[in-house]
Amino acid sequence: MSTPESKERTGRIPVPPARGNNPSTTEQGTTPGSFALPPQIGTPYSFSSPDSPGMPEPSDWTAWDFLPGDWQTGEESAVAPDGFEASTQLEHARLGRITPEMRRVAEREGHLSPGQIRDEISAGRMIIPANKVHLSYGLDPIGIGRAAATKINANLGASPLSSSTEEEVAKLEWAVTWGADTAMDLSTGGDLDRCREAIIRASTVPIGTVPIYSMIIGRSVEDLTYDDILEEIEKQAGQGVDFFTIHAGVLREHLPYISDRLIGIVSRGGSLLAKWMITHDKQNPMYEVFDDICDIMSEYDVSFSLGDGLRPGGLSDATDEAQLREVETLGELTERAWSRGCQVMIEGPGHIPFDQIEYNMKYARRACHGAPFYVLGPLVTDIFPGYDHITSCIGATAAAYHGAAMLCYVTPKEHLSLPKREDVKQGCIAYKIAAHAADVALGIPGSRDRDDELTKARAALNWEEHFNLSFDPETARAYHDEDHDADTDYCSMCGHDWCAVRISREIEMFGSGKAMEYAKLAAETLEAVGTAEDGKAPCHSDKVDDVGARDIQQEQLERSR
Ligand code: SF4
Repeated sequence: MSTPESKERTGRIPVPPARGNNPSTTEQGTTPGSFALPPQIGTPYSFSSPDSPGMPEPSDWTAWDFLPGDWQTGEESAVAPDGFEASTQLEHARLGRITPEMRRVAEREGHLSPGQIRDEISAGRMIIPANKVHLSYGLDPIGIGRAAATKINANLGASPLSSSTEEEVAKLEWAVTWGADTAMDLSTGGDLDRCREAIIRASTVPIGTVPIYSMIIGRSVEDLTYDDILEEIEKQAGQGVDFFTIHAGVLREHLPYISDRLIGIVSRGGSLLAKWMITHDKQNPMYEVFDDICDIMSEYDVSFSLGDGLRPGGLSDATDEAQLREVETLGELTERAWSRGCQVMIEGPGHIPFDQIEYNMKYARRACHGAPFYVLGPLVTDIFPGYDHITSCIGATAAAYHGAAMLCYVTPKEHLSLPKREDVKQGCIAYKIAAHAADVALGIPGSRDRDDELTKARAALNWEEHFNLSFDPETARAYHDEDHDADTDYCSMCGHDWCAVRISREIEMFGSGKAMEYAKLAAETLEAVGTAEDGKAPCHSDKVDDVGARDIQQEQLERSR
């Protein structure tokens, strides 16, 4: 057995060298920077975490490998047949064109040029969900892809038991106020067509829907026909929906895999389509008419959000056969959609233990050839109903760091009831935290600049600036002002004498030699005020508040002079 004497003391462990890009424009501070991989825009490693051992490699294929059959690969762009008119952002990008929407996305993503945006779209690694109808109403386009900053989605929508069109439009505006980059109208109650139309017209952010919800209003899912599916999709595309969740990846052959799950199928779309398949003993109708759906979506440039109908609904069912086989099918559907000119992102789970998140992200990156991954959470534990915005934003941070491009928020009401206004705010803030933390970790240029400015304001005990730089200034100000005015050089958390930031400022002043005047003044003040029998001056913060202390000091100083 080794003894303490026989062991060697570890030598000095050096500060590790930064590998990734510094997320601060000015590189202020002392941190070595991001530990992620250096960015390689134009490859599957645009911004990427280092792979843990055993992670799937990126796919060798991109959208360039799935051009329509009658297109040719040219020198720098593809060549379409004579007379072809591009409709989607993917088609424009393949032809080498930079659209106004691509320029706008480049403006918003300060670290990417319009050409890089086009190239990421042509490779299928980025989408701009922008229905031409919605663009005519004033949609402000965004890019979703791992080369861009992480985006967040807020789910809205009335249920048969709660809310109205007006409330849902108000919730949309509220969600955008709190940073939602996209919103999904998941209404299953009220006048669905009117609500969707109102939301699209009111929205400057892309709007997504799950069209199967409307398909079964007034009919049971078993009665759904191929024509019903295509008619509803055409109607919603014409209204201006920017992206559709289409659950075409749940196949009949996947259903036996769910029999041993603890919670079966938890996706509404997935469960409805499973019922249809079992009733008719046929393949998923969305899969069967997928090419027709593509044709409608390319006409309006609606993006696919290929749905995860078999996502796990509990930690017990995560990363299982059902889930992974569906993702493989989503990869096949991605290829089919790309070959028909459609933009594609992939939806992801759900409930995943923390240790399995990286694998899930990198599995999807491989199976779906780098198409943007859009994940719900994932929740990393199941036992905190009422706090699932927290359980899921922990998973969402890891998901974005390991490859997800957009995070679908979860509110505190998840699994419990329809979110209200305050829940929307809490969900958005939790997910802005996740997205921002991942962007800083990945080394996205400039993503840490505001953090650094706030750190400087905090170090200077400049409360007003501190509040103004906060994501939610009102809450920060209200919490501070519960106990103090904004002009104190400490707060009630530690108090005057224990305020490390104040003391640190004093040390800095002494260290820099700027504090001589201050030191002289402090000594003079101490002498003038004197100490009481308990050893503490009458202006000590145990005895008076800071205003009282200042008054005593000034009065005694003036007397002594
Ligand atoms: S009192 Fe404590 S918490 Fe407040 S500013 Fe000073 S160090 Fe920070």
